[in-house]
Amino acid sequence: MIFDTTKIRNDFPILADKVYGKPLVYFDNAATTQKPRCVVAKIEELYFHGNANIHRGVHYLSQKATEAHENARQTVANFIGAAASSEIIFTRGATEAINLVASSWGEKFCSAGDEIIVSAMEHHSNIVPWQMLCERKNLKLRVIPINHDGELLLDEYENLINEKTRLVALAHISNVLGTINPVKKIIEIAHKHNIPVLLDGAQAVPHIKVNVSELDVDFYVFSGHKIYAPTGIGVLYGKTNLLDQMPPYQGGGEMIQNVSFEKTTYNSLPFKFEAGTPDYVGSVALATALDYVQSIGLEGIATCETELMRYATKRILEIPEVTIFGTSAAKSAVLSFNVGKIHPYDIGVLLDHQGIAVRTGHHCAQPLMDFLKVPGTIRASFAFYNTFDEIDTFINALKKAVAMLL
Ligand code: PMP
Repeated sequence: MIFDTTKIRNDFPILADKVYGKPLVYFDNAATTQKPRCVVAKIEELYFHGNANIHRGVHYLSQKATEAHENARQTVANFIGAAASSEIIFTRGATEAINLVASSWGEKFCSAGDEIIVSAMEHHSNIVPWQMLCERKNLKLRVIPINHDGELLLDEYENLINEKTRLVALAHISNVLGTINPVKKIIEIAHKHNIPVLLDGAQAVPHIKVNVSELDVDFYVFSGHKIYAPTGIGVLYGKTNLLDQMPPYQGGGEMIQNVSFEKTTYNSLPFKFEAGTPDYVGSVALATALDYVQSIGLEGIATCETELMRYATKRILEIPEVTIFGTSAAKSAVLSFNVGKIHPYDIGVLLDHQGIAVRTGHHCAQPLMDFLKVPGTIRASFAFYNTFDEIDTFINALKKAVAMLL
């Protein structure tokens, strides 16, 4: 292992906890990550010594809080390579960011008969907002199919594009299959036809270096809680020229320039999209988490997690009845599987009783489950604080569970 794992694990007190008297093995990182001390300490510091509503006060505390929030925006912009901090909109998470685009961009740029392209491996968060837009405006949702390794069929993707296509909305990394999609190529193809692309980066930003400018992506979304930050804060990145043309998503304080009963004018970017008191503690805690990730280094994180995933994959195949879902060559630290005909939930419960936290079910990707012809899978997902020893514990526990259930 390339890290001092003992030191890193010490940053996450929960990892030393026991469940049912057994050491916790936390393999549910794709659902949410644990929080390092520095992030929780920052939240305490802000509430105890830096708390004031932002943007509206002349007093010292309000100015300090405003500065911290805007510095956090710059930290996010730097982290994902955005050209300007005004292209970073704080949201509650990836879901809200996608809903913002579907609602606001969809309102402006879509009309009856238009088409939106998604893929067969999307999380419900990147399906349902588009379906709702389709219902509202009488659009059609088109779906890029995948193969049995969990890879997009790029030829089919190109065939789906036509003069009615308005947007491609795609997961950067699948939360079930771990597939790292060839997004640069997908964006290039869309742009040849002047079609903007939204990437759902919820599973990408914590694991690989993302640069929105190099990708030339039009919208990019992610959630703080999957990258060691608190719940309730997330990010929408959008290119200025698109965000500028989009109507506000919600009305309220701060998103206005001037309000009268006759006419209201709207604020400039990014404030036009941040109605109401923003989660300024969340934004600063997110920036703290991003600084923490950067201090460890995303390249090292990616290497470490890939090693963990490869080792887990090798070991799990010691169990002959295991089927792995997602065998793309480009794959992130997600291991989805089933064992024979055993229901995933039964394995999840038996693993839980041995202290191992995995996720079971449809992972908010029911259309993908339909494609795989399974009711759900068991998903172990890794972070850089996990260890090979934990994988051994997991495999031993899984073998025990399988022996009981088969
Ligand atoms: N997209 C993907 C690929 C995800 O994995 C998730 C979370 N499971 C989401 C979107 C939604 O994230 P959130 O619930 O934090 O908004």
